[in-house]
Amino acid sequence: MTEKLNPFEIAQRQLDEAAQVLKLEPGIHALLREPLRELHVTLPVKMDDGSVKVFKGFRVQYNDARGPTKGGIRFHPAETIDTVRALAAWMTWKTAVVDIPLGGGKGGIICNPKEMSPAELERLSRAYIRQVGRILGEEVDVPAPDVYTNPQIMAWMMDEYSFIRGYNVPGVITGKPIPLGGSAGRSDATARGGMFCTREAGKVLDIELKGATAAIQGYGNAGQFAHLLGEELLGLKVLAVSDSRGGIFNPDGLEAKAVVEHKNNTGAVKGFSGATEITNEELLELDVTVLIPAALENQIGDWNAGNIKAKIVAELANGPTTPEADQILYKNGVYVIPDFLCNAGGVTVSYFEQVQNAYDYYWDEKTVHERLDQKMTAAFHAVHEMAQKHKVHNRLAAYLVAVNRVAEVVRLRGWV
Ligand code: NAD
Repeated sequence: MTEKLNPFEIAQRQLDEAAQVLKLEPGIHALLREPLRELHVTLPVKMDDGSVKVFKGFRVQYNDARGPTKGGIRFHPAETIDTVRALAAWMTWKTAVVDIPLGGGKGGIICNPKEMSPAELERLSRAYIRQVGRILGEEVDVPAPDVYTNPQIMAWMMDEYSFIRGYNVPGVITGKPIPLGGSAGRSDATARGGMFCTREAGKVLDIELKGATAAIQGYGNAGQFAHLLGEELLGLKVLAVSDSRGGIFNPDGLEAKAVVEHKNNTGAVKGFSGATEITNEELLELDVTVLIPAALENQIGDWNAGNIKAKIVAELANGPTTPEADQILYKNGVYVIPDFLCNAGGVTVSYFEQVQNAYDYYWDEKTVHERLDQKMTAAFHAVHEMAQKHKVHNRLAAYLVAVNRVAEVVRLRGWV
């Protein structure tokens, strides 16, 4: 395997490529290569055994030209500032590609939530907000859940922030539980948006998706709902799924509800009855119609891109494919729905949540699904048409759409 790349360098290289095609002014290009602001924090947390552990956390506000910065908070042992910077950059392009009036940000804490009790996680979440809350706000920067953070963590963070402000501020964070101002349809929004894009890809490629095969890497929020909704909305037959402990395979298909239940009961997909074990590497190279990376970054690189047999790669994870792999997949005719388009359903419904919080008036689930479908379908076709027009791969096309939109407001504001 080639040495893994720094995700922020990848994000910058992707922008550079788009800037060249767009003939972007050097000043705007230089501005968009860097985060506008970032905060590094040190968080002392009392652990259950009476000791104090000190954690490192970050919040990056990449660009707010189009509106308040928006982006999740990740809890991960391998978190780095460069991963957070890259993800904050991708959020900037993501909010622009789906054309919602927000910028891009991201946060993270270096920690292993699997080794922490709920009480320790609550103290860590509140400690993060006590430090980072000073740069958050419903009109400034609005976090959301991401890897290993969930609605409960959002609830603690919203509560801590509201205490600091002295009144209830539901709009400071999205992905909250519904009784605390969360939106209907938020929990499966990322996967649902990805399935809407996959449906549209099937149409433009003239591929019948009903009964077509699929494989899913990663079985958390994004991966599990991709399995359930891939089955329900598109009629996909999912042959393999995996998580950090390994994967399972059944050539006749894995029934979503049963695998989700098994994962919830045992904590892993492994051991599911009637399936054989498969490694994450083997899963990516399976002969399926749709491959759904829904785990972490840098999973498809020059070391394995040539072996990808899927016709459509629907990237629910952020940054699963390296720039070298993009070229190989494009050359081989693999249709990639790039991450910041494919997984934009989450931020789109987060934006709907902000709107509902601001008006204190809540929509039903059907309305959320319909509005999400409109946004994702429009974004998909904007990117597809751009790719056809410039004869470039879809990721570059998505950059062309998004960077154009951000650059336009930067110019209008007179920043450069
Ligand atoms: P999650 O924490 O719910 O799940 C992550 C899953 O990936 C877990 O099942 C874990 O076991 C698995 N995993 C970790 N390392 C792995 C490995 N090496 N191989 C295979 N599986 C592995 O996180 P999530 O919310 O589902 O996010 C997954 C990806 O989707 C991330 O890249 C995230 O940034 C992206 N994403 C999520 C959302 C969202 O709304 N949840 C929105 C946009 C993007």
